[in-house]
Amino acid sequence: MDIAKLIRPDLQKLKPYSSARDEFQGIANIYIDANENPFDNDVNRYPDPLQKDLKQRISEIKNIDVNNLFLGNGSDEVLDLLFRLFCIPGKDEVIISSPTYGMYKVLAGINNVSVIDVHLKNDFQLDVDNIIRKSSLNTKIVFLCSPNNPTGNILNKKDVMFILNNFEGIVVIDEAYQDFSKEDGFAKEVENYPNLVVTQTLSKAWGMAGLRLGIGICSNFIVQQLNKIKPPYNINVLTQRFALDHLNDIEGFNKRLSLIKAESDRLAEELSKLPMVRKIYSTETNFLLVEFLDANLYYDKLLDKGIVVRNRSKQIHCENCLRITVGTKIENDSLINTLKTFK
Ligand SMILES: *Cc1c(COP(=O)(O)O)cnc(C)c1O
Repeated sequence: MDIAKLIRPDLQKLKPYSSARDEFQGIANIYIDANENPFDNDVNRYPDPLQKDLKQRISEIKNIDVNNLFLGNGSDEVLDLLFRLFCIPGKDEVIISSPTYGMYKVLAGINNVSVIDVHLKNDFQLDVDNIIRKSSLNTKIVFLCSPNNPTGNILNKKDVMFILNNFEGIVVIDEAYQDFSKEDGFAKEVENYPNLVVTQTLSKAWGMAGLRLGIGICSNFIVQQLNKIKPPYNINVLTQRFALDHLNDIEGFNKRLSLIKAESDRLAEELSKLPMVRKIYSTETNFLLVEFLDANLYYDKLLDKGIVVRNRSKQIHCENCLRITVGTKIENDSLINTLKTFK
């Protein structure tokens, strides 16, 4: 597959913006080339447009070659740039598999790209035959989400590999929850599949949703193409600095991760004893998809007590389901005790 041919033809000819830091990259005594304010307040200089130090650290932690990393202002920005890079507005289309993360459809709409929704089967696994059957030359991207939001499960590896081996376009695997999963993800496969883009984020297991730092893992060719079209300074100075500091705390990360996992198991166990709970789906994330006798009723009752969960009951295969994020022990106890008071 020739990935270059999948790129929007007009972008292949685009001459990207060249910033002051692109044009001079060495060490100088005086920087008067970027119209920055010379008075130091820690943020008066533009950030590194290619985030070299931060990428180096992420490369070490994730054991991914630094040349296969692209960073975005949240993984949502990475996803948006993928639409822009590969999809011709008003002409191309993408495939998603509902129930899944809502942003794929929204980003498609923003980019005037149509969506083919090949629903997950009722076991929340991919309908691979229909994904391949419904794709055409205009189908540029298939979005897979594993572990999937809001269902919490990982996709079967053989199905994902089948799509990678048979779909003639870009395969995006959104691994926002990968750090919670028992199984290996697909990041290493970017070495074998030039059409694969894996997205991860610091927003979930790393606990830095407020920072907005998303990670694209893909071939260096796609990294370079994304660099061409991204806003030049998309990751600000404070985000780069804070992320670099906090990514060094592997011990704290692992400790919080195991606390969340233990609480997830405990919460599932306690919820399963409640009369209004019909089913708890197994999860490889930091949330539980829970089927209630009446999702709307219990959503409202919880809200009335100041507890807000996510009502997913309108999504396909998710009738009467609420999505509950694992909180602290105190928050989870509070949820359980509140539910116990309901008739
Ligand atoms: C939370 C979430 C994201 C968003 O990640 P950001 O890096 O915060 O933009 C992406 N994909 C899925 C499936 C998510 O649940």
